[in-house]
Amino acid sequence: MGVDKRNPIAVVGGGLGGAAAAALLQQAGYNVAVFEQASTFAPAGAGIHLTPNVMRVLGHIGVGDALVGSGCLPESFTSRDLASNAVRTSLPLGSRARESYGAPYLTIGRSVLHRELVDALRPGTVRYGKRLVRLDDGGGAVQLSFADGSTTEASCVIGADGLGSQVREGMHGAERPAFSGQIAYRATVPGHARIPVDRRCITKWWADDSFVIGYSTDSHSDDYYFVAGTAADAWTHPQSFVDGDKDEMLDAFDGSCDEVLSLLESCQSLSKWPLFERPPLQSWGRGRVALLGDACHPMRPHMAQGAAMAIEDGVLLLRCLGLEDEVEDAFWRYAESRKQRTARVQAVSADNTWLKDTEDPAWVFRYDAMTIEPAPRRSGALSVT
Ligand SMILES: Cc1cc2nc3c(=O)[nH]c(=O)nc-3n(C[C@H](O)[C@H](O)[C@H](O)COP(=O)(O)OP(=O)(O)OC[C@H]3O[C@@H](n4cnc5c(N)ncnc54)[C@H](O)[C@@H]3O)c2cc1C
Repeated sequence: MGVDKRNPIAVVGGGLGGAAAAALLQQAGYNVAVFEQASTFAPAGAGIHLTPNVMRVLGHIGVGDALVGSGCLPESFTSRDLASNAVRTSLPLGSRARESYGAPYLTIGRSVLHRELVDALRPGTVRYGKRLVRLDDGGGAVQLSFADGSTTEASCVIGADGLGSQVREGMHGAERPAFSGQIAYRATVPGHARIPVDRRCITKWWADDSFVIGYSTDSHSDDYYFVAGTAADAWTHPQSFVDGDKDEMLDAFDGSCDEVLSLLESCQSLSKWPLFERPPLQSWGRGRVALLGDACHPMRPHMAQGAAMAIEDGVLLLRCLGLEDEVEDAFWRYAESRKQRTARVQAVSADNTWLKDTEDPAWVFRYDAMTIEPAPRRSGALSVT
């Protein structure tokens, strides 16, 4: 029962979703290789929230304890008013997260998470310097062609190649992601800086068209990470991010409370990012090729769920491969199992209202990708589950 585990599976893109999917597949006995365009993975300064729904999966992969040892377990997610610093609401986390949602809520350096996921793979699984330029699905096998002129064949392909996915483009044609009308400045404030924030909590300050969110990412350091988002007419740079200008950022946040201004002033260097998005996609795959993560459902970062959704995808994909004998049926069932949840998370992320006022986050945090019932089988599927 299930797709033959000996057939080679190619994962295109070794980012957070691709590395997690490959680790899950490999641990379940599948023959998997990851083709990544970068020549190596450079550490990035960004932070990331790992909410209980994704910590559950990361624990299953076997990296949960290492992540908890390195990251921070915030005591709360506290919402404040950007102009006055007044508290709007506060969601208890810390030990309460484990009690309420079954797993911890962690904040950590994004590159620490990525390193743990890549290290969970057998050596040699990631083939670096392999930028996919073309896929040819010949029915029984898929040929992958890379920018360096090399080719390889796989029984099926998982497109985990992120926002500008080449795999997606091969299926649906070239269509650039839409600029959301927001940009975000990201920076880390050094631990010695005296900033009037509670480092034990995640704090998000809200205004109508801008926000600042700050938190600690390293249990061994007092560094403090923040993202400051505001409206912008367009993103005109060819790069996915550029160096930020502190005066420009401070101008954009003029009128904010002293606590936020002091935080923004304390950073030494910063980067500036466009926030892109795409509407929900109806077709997540074609034949022996399926999409995962930002390649099919990129979202604004306002729920901190982009990587979480990519990693949850990997679990359902793995489970569906085990439930169906034919790859095409497994990929169809996987997509049907994930579309509703990811579309809802995309919509709430676009609204930027998550945890602004008191709400119950259980529908996000309690989701258990390992036990949730997958969508029913496709009618006419050849396999017997
Ligand atoms: C400001 C900001 C804050 C965020 N905060 C959070 C958070 O707190 N929590 C959270 O869960 N998510 C967060 N996210 C979202 C998260 O970073 C993404 O959703 C997540 O990285 C998606 O994973 P992915 O594997 O789909 O794509 P990526 O991680 O982008 O990986 C794609 C990989 O594919 C490779 N690639 C691309 N094209 C090719 C090609 N042609 N051939 C071979 N390889 C290729 C790339 O080099 C890359 O390694 C945030 C995003 C932003 C912008």
